[in-house]
Amino acid sequence: MRSFSEQSSWIRKMFEEGAKMKAQFGADNVFDFSLGNPDLPPPHEFKEVLQTIINDETPGQHAYMPNGGYPWVKEVVAAKMSNEQGVNVMPGDVLMTCGAAGALNITMKALLDPGDEVILLAPFFVEYKFYVDNHGGASKIVNTNEQFELDLQEIEKAVTEKTKAIIINSPNNPSGQIYSRKSLDQLSDLLRYLGEQYATTIYLIADEPYRKIVFGDHEVPSIFASYSNSIVLSSYSKDLSLPGERIGYLAVQPDISEKKELLDALTLANRILGFVNAPALMQRTISELQHVSVDNSIYEKRRNIFCTILEEAGFDFIPPKGAFYVFPKTPIEDDVRFCEILQQEKILAVPGRGFGFPGYIRLAFCVDEKVIENAAEPFKRAFANGMK
Ligand code: PLP
Repeated sequence: MRSFSEQSSWIRKMFEEGAKMKAQFGADNVFDFSLGNPDLPPPHEFKEVLQTIINDETPGQHAYMPNGGYPWVKEVVAAKMSNEQGVNVMPGDVLMTCGAAGALNITMKALLDPGDEVILLAPFFVEYKFYVDNHGGASKIVNTNEQFELDLQEIEKAVTEKTKAIIINSPNNPSGQIYSRKSLDQLSDLLRYLGEQYATTIYLIADEPYRKIVFGDHEVPSIFASYSNSIVLSSYSKDLSLPGERIGYLAVQPDISEKKELLDALTLANRILGFVNAPALMQRTISELQHVSVDNSIYEKRRNIFCTILEEAGFDFIPPKGAFYVFPKTPIEDDVRFCEILQQEKILAVPGRGFGFPGYIRLAFCVDEKVIENAAEPFKRAFANGMK
């Protein structure tokens, strides 16, 4: 855990720096783009549904339940997933979890034997490495390409007879990339081919908490349509702004290998990792909110403002297609040094190396658009200082 603490120190370090700077200069004078904590309030329907549920005095509302979740909640989530994935998902294919993080942990617990390898695509959500390690696995890091798209050749090189799974995250934190239908089909073909070569099953795990936060006419392609040995997991942390309430879910592709054994393992993992089941109150609440989402146009507007500001300051970046992050290249190679230069302008960003991808910074736009607008001149100055 000591070495883990050191590895995970970037986001924590920025958080601490931010707190210090806000105390010194006042919160309004610091441009804090370091945290991916959704700032939009949950949609008004959330409170309305919650109030109705709280007033319901039917006995047993707060009791234990089947470890995979309330059957009738799994039914509505299965219907939603069938719609999103274009494949008929049954309630028995679904488990309710404590956020996407809980879903990832039970998946690792269910799949991994000691020493099994899991491929992660950099830049990646930093917790993946810990989740793999939690359950005795070894992470193998493969970079995405210049466009943050899948690099199939590098993925092929990384697969061995010990490869149990690959985790993909689209829309991506931190790059904002959405993997194309074509590249997902190619990845599926590759995994099928390599699985046959090594006489093994390589699971494709799709982490999709940002599926509903997409910009313009971009769409998130279905994973289930491409690859049968896949697990899709997600949560309501981002699209309903409920990260503190710890409510998420996963579904296995209906034709997944060893389905019954896998579902039993996932359900047991949900019970024995300490969650026991996803929170009852939140399961009941989200079951009424399948078609509700935060106002995405607010994120889209901020994204557009941010892109204009970064472009005018001289940054090289790919406009995000989804999620609420932008991931520009740093004008100097040393991303940590560039974060220090940004801090002189009271801008807080997370160095790319915190996501396994040095030479970049992550800027989260979970902040009011005024904060982004007011950072325009400071970004210009920081970029110019970096170039000196
Ligand atoms: N996966 C990604 C890519 C994330 O960015 C996050 C949270 O920021 C999570 C998973 C964890 O989400 P949850 O709050 O649903 O556990």
